[in-house]
Amino acid sequence: MPSTEVLNYIGGGWRRPHSAAGLEVINPATGNLLAVSPAGDAADVEAAVQAASAAFPEWRAMPPAERVQYLFRFKQLLEDHFEEIARIITTENGKTLAEARGELRRGVENVEVACGIPILMQGYNLEDVARGIDELMFRQPLGVVAAITPFNFPAMIPLWFLPYAIACGNTFILKPSDRVPLSMARIVGLLSQTGLPAGVVNVVNGGKAAVDALLDHPAVQAISFVGSTRVARYIYSRASASGKRVQCQGGAKNHVVVLPDADPETTTQIIADSAYGCAGQRCLAVSVAVTVGDARQWFRGSITSAAAALKIGDGLAEGVQMGPVISQASRRRIEDLIAAGAAEGAIAAVDGRGAAAPGLGNGSFVGPTVLDGIPAQSKLAETEIFGPVLSLIHASDVDEAIAIISRNSYGNASSIFTSSGAAARKFRNLIPTGNVGVNIGVAAPMAYFPFSGWKGSFLGVLHAQGRDAVEFYTDKKVVIERWPKEWSRKF
Ligand code: NAD
Repeated sequence: MPSTEVLNYIGGGWRRPHSAAGLEVINPATGNLLAVSPAGDAADVEAAVQAASAAFPEWRAMPPAERVQYLFRFKQLLEDHFEEIARIITTENGKTLAEARGELRRGVENVEVACGIPILMQGYNLEDVARGIDELMFRQPLGVVAAITPFNFPAMIPLWFLPYAIACGNTFILKPSDRVPLSMARIVGLLSQTGLPAGVVNVVNGGKAAVDALLDHPAVQAISFVGSTRVARYIYSRASASGKRVQCQGGAKNHVVVLPDADPETTTQIIADSAYGCAGQRCLAVSVAVTVGDARQWFRGSITSAAAALKIGDGLAEGVQMGPVISQASRRRIEDLIAAGAAEGAIAAVDGRGAAAPGLGNGSFVGPTVLDGIPAQSKLAETEIFGPVLSLIHASDVDEAIAIISRNSYGNASSIFTSSGAAARKFRNLIPTGNVGVNIGVAAPMAYFPFSGWKGSFLGVLHAQGRDAVEFYTDKKVVIERWPKEWSRKF
C-alpha cells in the first residue's frame, strides 16, 4: 500500500475510491501530513455492500469452528506486528507508545474472545415441551453489518466489533475515523494474509457521506457506532428509521469521588493517569474529581503537583508521559473551555493553555490542567471536554457526591476512592453509570464483559464486547419439532 494514499478495502482487494476528494491525515505531534484518506461516498459503500452480500452465503455456511481458524491466524499476525502497529497508532493519534501498546492489547483481547464463538454462539433446547414435541433455539448471523468508529482508539474500537461480527457468520464493513485510518489499513492488511475469503471484511474510508450511505442501505442489517453523543443520536435515529439493529456508544463526563480515607499517594497517581492519559481523550477518562470532606485539602495539592510534573511531547519519544490532542481545532476548543471554566469561577491551579513541546511548534499540545472550584451546576460541569483537563468539585458527604454525579446527562463511568467497604458498596449500588471503578481510575471492562455505558453515553440495548456482542450480531431462531412415531420407518 502506498504510504501517502489510503485505499478502501473491498471484495478482498485495495480499491481507489470513486471520488477523487481526500481528507488529510495529520500527525498531531508534529503537524506533518501523513496521508490522504479517501472521502468515500455512496458508490464506494454500494461496492462494499455488494462484496459483503456476495460473500455472506458461503461465510455463514462455514462451520463456526472453521471460521475462527482465521481469527487464530489473525491474532498471531497481530502479535507478530505488535510494535509496528503500536507505532502507527501513536503517529496518527498522538498517544504515547505505552498507551498505544495498551490499546492494541485490549483490541487483541477481543479477537481472543471471539475465537470462543463455537461455544458463545450456542443456543439452547428442551426435549418434550409437550408430549413428543421438542423446542430448539439457534443463533444465526444477521447478514451484512457495519461499524463506524472514532479517532481516539484507532485499532481497539474497530476490534470491539470486527472479530465478533465475522465469527458469528456476518460479513462486515468498517468506516473508520477519517482522522486515523492508517492503523486499521495495516490491521486489515494483516487480516487479508490469513486467507479470509474476499468480501467478509471491507473498509470504506470517509466521513458523513459514507456513513449516511451505510445508514440508509437496505442490505445493511446492523450498525455499531462509537463517537460523540451528538452523532450517536443522529445515527441511532436514522439507522433505526430504516429498520436496522443499532448500538451507539456516545460521549462521556466521568467523575471520581475521593473520600478522606483514600490512600493519598496511590489515589493521586491513579487519578492523574485517568485524567491525563491519552491526553484526556479516552471515553473513560476522569473529567471531574469530587472531593469529600477533608480530602479536598490533600487532593488539591497532590493532583496539582502530579499534573504540573507530567512531561509532554511526541508519544514516540522515550520518557514522554502525555502526547498532543488530535488536532489544532481540538486544541483551540479545549483552550476555550478552560477559559469558560475560569469565567464560571474556577481557578486554573495548573493551566495547560499555550503549552508547547520542545522542538514541536506545530504540534497540537494542551498541557495538563486542573480547574479548582467549578460550580457543580455550571455549564462546564456538564460539558464533555475530551482533553487533559480535570475539574475539582467539593461535596460534604458521599450522598452529595452521588447526587452531583446523578444529575449529569452522561452515564459512561464513575469511580470511588476509599478504604471503606460500606461507602464503596453504597456508591456501586446507587451510581447511575454503566461502568464503575472502586479504587480503579479507568474502569474499562475486559473483552469478556460488556462495555456498559448508560444514559447519554449509550443508545441501544446490547453493548459492545463479549456476550452482548454475540447477541447483537445474531438473531434467535426458535424451532418446534414434532416427529410422530407413525411417520418413521420401523427399525
Ligand atoms: P465523532 O462523533 O466526531 O465521530 C465518530 C465517527 O462518526 C467517525 O467515524 C466520523 O467520521 C463519523 N461522523 C462524524 N460526524 C458525522 C456526521 N455528522 N454524520 C455522520 N457521521 C459522522 O467522534 P470523535 O471525535 O471521532 O470521537 C470522540 C468522541 O467519541 C467523544 O465524544 C468520546 O467520548 C466518544 N467515545 C465514546 C466511547 C464510548 O465507548 N462511549 C469510546 C470512545 C470514544
